Amino acid sequence: MFRFMCLLLLCVSAEAQSESVSLRQSCLNSLGVYKSYFKQEALDEICVQVEKKEGCASVSGAPIFHLDRKSKLEQPKKILVMSLIHGDETPAGSLGRFWMERLMKVDARNTWRIIPVVNPDGVKNKTRTNQKGVDLNRNFPTVDWTADAVKMWEKKEQKAVRKFPGFAPGGEPEVQCIIQHLEEFKPDFVVSIHTPLNVLDFDGPKLKKAPSYFYLPWKSLGNFPGSLGRYLWVERNTPVLTTELKSTLPADAVAFEQLQDLIGTLVKADLK
Ligand SMILES: [Zn+2]
Repeated sequence: MFRFMCLLLLCVSAEAQSESVSLRQSCLNSLGVYKSYFKQEALDEICVQVEKKEGCASVSGAPIFHLDRKSKLEQPKKILVMSLIHGDETPAGSLGRFWMERLMKVDARNTWRIIPVVNPDGVKNKTRTNQKGVDLNRNFPTVDWTADAVKMWEKKEQKAVRKFPGFAPGGEPEVQCIIQHLEEFKPDFVVSIHTPLNVLDFDGPKLKKAPSYFYLPWKSLGNFPGSLGRYLWVERNTPVLTTELKSTLPADAVAFEQLQDLIGTLVKADLK
């Protein structure tokens, strides 16, 4: 009996080990293609620490992994960052990677969770949408989704294939993964990284004065049925900063460092 249990435990731990090796490899492969502002060791360091929630996989089964960096301070705020919800917005991957790598080197004031590749199939296929042709940023189950999402896509977007909201509210596995994260992590603030509109678009409480930021201007773009901004801010009171980068990356990392620090300060200022 004892021998049997030992064998069983060995078997379970071998399986867990091979899962973590393949997750590490997925992280190295998928983030390795994005420009980094650190040395290669920084990527190795984050990829041994990434985790994956059960069920967090794309339509084709690619893992959707994340990194947690907890603040050592008491009662830190929680910030959730997502990049590449649109698979063809490549510079977004560099910012997601940069913030992960930087968090390994600083004592953060806040607790951060970063999901760097929300739409791995879109990245592989070089498409905005997921493998089923759904725009994930129109698929969140907002209360108006059933009544308005497809109607608006047909009338206002003239059925643009890049903006198809999907077949059912929250019907895509990538969106279900994000919702799992939101419900478990309970972020105080969410950052969604996109390109190429060159603005900071904030869905949140009115700021007395938007913090100055040299690299991108603040500009509200509004939100839509099924968009993250409507789902989180309009319906759940969780602020969302949509970071719309330029289509080219900055030469050095100063702009990315400043933005991370600016977000940290904004969240500390108690937005709710
Ligand atoms: Zn986008």
